[in-house]
Amino acid sequence: MASSALKAQNSPNLGQTSKLMELAKSSIEKEDYERANQYFRQIIDSGVPIPSEMPYYFAETLFQLRQYDNSSNFLHKYLEINGFQADHYEEAKGLEKRLEAPLKAIKDCDLCDHRGYRYQSCFTCEGKKVLEQDCQYCRGKGIVGCSRCQGSGLVTKKNIFNITEYFQCARCKGQGRLTCPKCKGSLKEISACKTCSGFGKLHSDELCDHKEKEPNQDKVDEEPEIENNLF
Ligand SMILES: [Zn+2]
Ligand SMILES: [Zn+2]
Ligand SMILES: [Zn+2]
Ligand SMILES: [Zn+2]
Repeated sequence: MASSALKAQNSPNLGQTSKLMELAKSSIEKEDYERANQYFRQIIDSGVPIPSEMPYYFAETLFQLRQYDNSSNFLHKYLEINGFQADHYEEAKGLEKRLEAPLKAIKDCDLCDHRGYRYQSCFTCEGKKVLEQDCQYCRGKGIVGCSRCQGSGLVTKKNIFNITEYFQCARCKGQGRLTCPKCKGSLKEISACKTCSGFGKLHSDELCDHKEKEPNQDKVDEEPEIENNLF
């Protein structure tokens, strides 16, 4: 007891880390992986050097939480750092094998990103990737000032006697303004949706089951409830 108190005094952060490691491990034993995850996150956030066996335990925890991409990252970090010397080398190799199928499922699935999180259709463009919006070039006015005559409709030239003469601007035919060259006067332009940067989809924090959602299922569940509220 006395020696551990002394150790904690000398390096409070390291003492804290081993305490968190023990808490995380006992959470794993109780199959409380959410809690174990929280302890591991605290170790990482504390900024102290990570205990050498920690990435293995963390990878196992993340596997159980179905965060396969993250699990694979920590597993590889673990094997990279410790190599054959790793205390849990065999288990780590076993986890690597167990990760193969779920990682392949993520790769083969179009519904989720490369980390296995389900895409959501962009709420702004509803998946269309582009939006019709006010033309930015003319700010939705449809006309722009003529740049040759600075909007005056007139251009000047000096004649051979060095006297300034005025002419009607040929570009805008003396109007001083031109139809917007971007939207051709339609006031609208079709451009990439800003919310999703033209991707049509947004990332989410929902883990993907790699199955299409049945579109009507939610509605069927909701309808009776709405009727009850109305009548
Ligand atoms: Zn002009
Ligand atoms: Zn325009
Ligand atoms: Zn969008
Ligand atoms: Zn998927």
